[in-house]
Amino acid sequence: MNEKQSPLKVLILGANGFIGSSLTSAMLRRTDWEVYGMDVGDHKLTHVLGHNRFHFVEGDITINREWIEYHVKKCDVVIPLVAIANPAQYVKHPLRVFELDFEANLEIVRKCVKYGKRLVFPSTSEVYGMCPEEVLDEQASNMVYGPIDKQRWIYAASKQLLDRVIYAYGLEGLDYTLFRPFNWIGPKLDNVMEPKEGSSRLFTQFISNVIFKKPIQLVDGGSQSRSFTFIDDGVDCLLKIIENKDGCASRKIFNIGNPNNNVSVADLAKIIIEAFKHYPDYQEHAEQAQVVSVSSQEYFGKYYQDIYTRVPSIEAAKEALGWWPTVDLQTAIRRTLDYHLAHEDYELTSAA
Ligand code: NAD
Repeated sequence: MNEKQSPLKVLILGANGFIGSSLTSAMLRRTDWEVYGMDVGDHKLTHVLGHNRFHFVEGDITINREWIEYHVKKCDVVIPLVAIANPAQYVKHPLRVFELDFEANLEIVRKCVKYGKRLVFPSTSEVYGMCPEEVLDEQASNMVYGPIDKQRWIYAASKQLLDRVIYAYGLEGLDYTLFRPFNWIGPKLDNVMEPKEGSSRLFTQFISNVIFKKPIQLVDGGSQSRSFTFIDDGVDCLLKIIENKDGCASRKIFNIGNPNNNVSVADLAKIIIEAFKHYPDYQEHAEQAQVVSVSSQEYFGKYYQDIYTRVPSIEAAKEALGWWPTVDLQTAIRRTLDYHLAHEDYELTSAA
């Protein structure tokens, strides 16, 4: 894909995560790039661990600093994906979120500055906070957060400050792209076989609740809406950003989301339950599925505050990258359930 003589060398930290593992597979399948990865675990990478262009080390980014410095120096593009990215954790462990999501990543950003390496960094749709605008725009939208005791915002605030730091380094020469995923979903988001409430992000939690015949809990009735984006669409966009043909992604910020998949959380629950009916072993689970409403205070505790709507403008990505999402919500859910319930080999069947 790249036009350089030697293949691009990509360093991906958090390679075993939801985005990291899908992106790693896609880079190995669809490009000739050399991929260097680190994560504290490797269970989502088992299908690529022996690949001759994948060089993986199990390790903690806050400890293995020398390995990271050496590989930032060696690689062309650095993608730091390590973070705590589950809202239940923001209210329970705010300082841990700050230390990992902000402090540990700032170190890596500074290494990219030191060695003049291109940085592709995950911001988040959460940075817009409670912005009341109908459609969120990278350049124009405001970022609106609640009071300090609403600890949920420590994640958004950490990400926002890093966005600003990276932008400022960009003015001094750093080559970067900031991308903002809008509720990416798909196989291996979190562990569907972990029934503990709050251990997963909501999409996985709902699937897990149906599997384990536990009621789906809609926080404050589930009227909040999100623009759910299938992982393959997100990864397609990331490949274009990493390839960076003619510098099309340099020093830019992109929302990566699917405005056509904007539904309420209550509707998401209904669509997931309906989709289970296609799997003979789970029809009874779907028929017996229960949906209940729970207050946000009860579910997340008093330090939570919600975001009611979150629709991305994706004009910037369309214009600069020629990218737009193509997978509708029903298909995204079916592909996820095919992977988890019918054990379809997702790595072999997903877009080539
Ligand atoms: P994830 O939680 O699935 O992956 C994070 C990975 O980091 C995990 O594999 C974890 O094992 C690893 N990790 C954690 N601590 C580590 C450490 N100290 N050393 C090494 N590895 C460590 O998250 P994700 O969904 O893949 O998200 C990746 C990035 O994208 C994060 O920065 C997240 O905030 C951002 N993001 C994701 C979404 C989304 O929809 N998934 C939305 C907005 C932003």
